[in-house]
Amino acid sequence: MSEAPLKLFNSLTRSIEEFVPVHAGEARVYSCGPTVYNYQHIGNMRAYVFADTLGRTLQWKGLKLTHVINITDVGHLTSDADEGEDKMEKMAARQGKSAWDIAKFYQEDFERDLARLNVQPKIHPRATEYVEEMIAWGKQVADKHCYECDTGLYFDVTTVEDYGRLARAVTEDGEGRIDTVEGKRNAADFAIWRKTPAGETRQMEWDSPWGKGAPGWHLECSVMGEKLLGFPFDIHTGGIDHREIHHPNEIAQNQAFCGCGGLSDAANSGARIWMHNNFLVERSGKMSKSSGEFLRLQLLLDKGFHPLAYRMMCLQAHYRSELEFSWDGLLAALTRLKRIVMIAERLADAEPVEGAVHQKFAPALEKFGAAISDDLNTAVALTALEDALAVKKVDQGIKRSVIEQMDAVLGLGIFGLTRADLRVAPKDAQLTEAEVDEALARRKAARAEKDFALSDKIRDELAAKGVDVMDGDPLGWDWKLG
Ligand code: AMP
Ligand code: ZN
Repeated sequence: MSEAPLKLFNSLTRSIEEFVPVHAGEARVYSCGPTVYNYQHIGNMRAYVFADTLGRTLQWKGLKLTHVINITDVGHLTSDADEGEDKMEKMAARQGKSAWDIAKFYQEDFERDLARLNVQPKIHPRATEYVEEMIAWGKQVADKHCYECDTGLYFDVTTVEDYGRLARAVTEDGEGRIDTVEGKRNAADFAIWRKTPAGETRQMEWDSPWGKGAPGWHLECSVMGEKLLGFPFDIHTGGIDHREIHHPNEIAQNQAFCGCGGLSDAANSGARIWMHNNFLVERSGKMSKSSGEFLRLQLLLDKGFHPLAYRMMCLQAHYRSELEFSWDGLLAALTRLKRIVMIAERLADAEPVEGAVHQKFAPALEKFGAAISDDLNTAVALTALEDALAVKKVDQGIKRSVIEQMDAVLGLGIFGLTRADLRVAPKDAQLTEAEVDEALARRKAARAEKDFALSDKIRDELAAKGVDVMDGDPLGWDWKLG
């Protein structure tokens, strides 16, 4: 594989930087995880496909990976300002369940979706398991950096150098988006502890030096990142929305914890490199859980798409570009994946030859390595994979091992897929796959007997039930449920 050094775009410095591990031979990554008050939409899942591809790339570079994706099960309010209701408690009230049950249910659903997308197992700490550590952190920084008001303990952002540098890398309006909360000194100040209002009881609340209440959302990531990975760790990731408020606030807390150095030394932010994936958008605008069709991964499955078609769709775009979702785009990604799988199926019986190289694969491997090392250019890396698949008259075992190496980074699980897996078969189809296969076998027999009237009749019957028979289709789809 290419020896090209890994270069990544650091949102904090706004430049491409060479990745140099903090601890030799290791990579430690923290990715902001879901707030488990609802299902994740496929936009959220883009963030984890990106984080996973990054993790796989670090492993491919020979590094031992420790990768955390936290679970926010407390503390995230419905507004980015320290206002609004706690998302968990609100959903619990709506469903008549406990906040703990809500968290458990949606965490499990999230982990199922990660597995469906071939996201490698990660460490999933829950915020509620770290409340004691969050209180200890609060105590450590409170004197120099915080003030108390009626609603909680607030972090004064003017007490650290360079507050908001990360947000300014993109836009100047981060602070403008935050509404003022009574008693806050600066608009951008944020709660690190929210007191339970007098006379109220929350399902999730703890005693603290600042009264009964719950931690602020930003605090959990600072604390779990430091506890599990140590400061500074290598890379912190999240969606691009986090560049505005959540990560600047995490960084301010980390600076306070680290003795308050400025951000010219990246290590003071807690992580050496901050990376952000751009959004998956719908034509109508931003993806949302509350408006329009709720685009969950399960919906894609119900419509008959294999989940890895969605991973393919993500990989076709650069993670820093906006990606527009459409069903046609998803079908195109599925078709591309199917082409790849159909060639790979021919290698099913080949024994991979570890470490063997063949000159014929050198250009594809070089292209693949250079693309991935160039800030994860997966779009070009995919074409290198296709170049390698197109190499002919070569030892099949070597070919298989080359494809496996590339797939280890892309995570498509090519050798675990068959073309039948990639058939589009919606959940509400009127026919089962077995019935379609049986009808097609009858039709084939009719054609062999030159009984074209029967053959056409079977085709029409299938069409009436939404199945397109695709004669002579070079992709070998055989049939497709419309
Ligand atoms: P949340 O559960 O809202 O905290 O979001 C979980 C992750 O998904 C965060 O890293 C967000 O930045 C990211 N995210 C949210 N919406 C999108 C989107 N439409 N496209 C890509 N990433 C997103
Ligand atoms: Zn976070």
